[in-house]
Amino acid sequence: MAINRRDFLKASSGGALLLASGATVAEAEAKELSPDAVGILYDATLCIGCKSCMVNCKRVNTLEKGGALYKPGRDIPYNYKGDFPIWDEVTELSDTALSIIKAYKEGTGLNRNEVENGFSFVKNHCMHCIDPACASVCPVEALYKEPASGAVIYYRDRCIGCRYCQIACPFGIPKFEWGSNDPLIVKCQLCHHRFPEGGYSACCEFCPSGASIFGPVKELREEAKRRLSLTYGKYYDFPVQTVGSERKLAKQASRYIDRIYGMTEAGGTQYLLLAGVPFDMLGFNPQISDQEYPELTWDYIQKVPALIVGLLLAGAASYYATRNRDGEDKEK
Ligand code: SF4
Ligand code: SF4
Ligand code: SF4
Repeated sequence: MAINRRDFLKASSGGALLLASGATVAEAEAKELSPDAVGILYDATLCIGCKSCMVNCKRVNTLEKGGALYKPGRDIPYNYKGDFPIWDEVTELSDTALSIIKAYKEGTGLNRNEVENGFSFVKNHCMHCIDPACASVCPVEALYKEPASGAVIYYRDRCIGCRYCQIACPFGIPKFEWGSNDPLIVKCQLCHHRFPEGGYSACCEFCPSGASIFGPVKELREEAKRRLSLTYGKYYDFPVQTVGSERKLAKQASRYIDRIYGMTEAGGTQYLLLAGVPFDMLGFNPQISDQEYPELTWDYIQKVPALIVGLLLAGAASYYATRNRDGEDKEK
């Protein structure tokens, strides 16, 4: 059940007592993929490193209507050269970068999608876990998994800035606005604000090579499996922008690593990846297990003394009571 800020203020003193009695805030239950779940398939063997995805991600998400980077009164977080916004030079995900393209390079870096003397690109953003650890530890349900689409979204008006989500996420995705006096968590929300009008993830919309495609997760899984069964060097019609797109690019299949990243990792994710280079070389932690992370994180968080958690909640309630935020009408 979602609670809003007013409910939280009313319930917080009782919540502290509840925690002090040893009860947990969320149940660690294995979740299943929603039949309508949507996500992204990123095929590193097709990526040309143009960063168009990052540009459109920032463009779309700085817009007022639902953008994950939009915040009233905040300047658009572009870099500027004189009067002109320029492409980001960020090297990591941050409170102004929801997605990032990185490069693997070894030796001469001449062989595309090869380990030795090779190179590959990789795209990082929220994995939209089927059972998201970030949402399971959030004491006020500021992070929430939409039941139908499965997008893991964030309600900034509920957030109390405890940063539990940052500790819990096995992929290091949520970022905190350290430079703000009204700090919030920032992360990719799958561009879910575009779904009601038929839109989809902005990164896929601008990807010219077919490396990032959006669609139902079940179809993305099938597409990924199909690609793994392709013969190296054989031509294949790769769909562009969406998995069901009629726009296709005929390209020779690369030699894939026999793994769909996100099928099982952290209990399964709605962002899936294919690559020609092992995923640990692309920066993915090889120690991420197949177990749902809420189970693991709650094993840890339940060991935090209940009194500390109670004090945290009481402090958060006090923080909200004094915080100068937009009025309830504006929030709606
Ligand atoms: S990758 Fe991290 S932030 Fe994204 S849904 Fe999973 S746990 Fe949450
Ligand atoms: S889904 Fe949207 S917010 Fe997430 S990386 Fe793509 S464009 Fe950015
Ligand atoms: S737009 Fe597509 S090809 Fe360009 S960097 Fe992003 S994922 Fe790679």
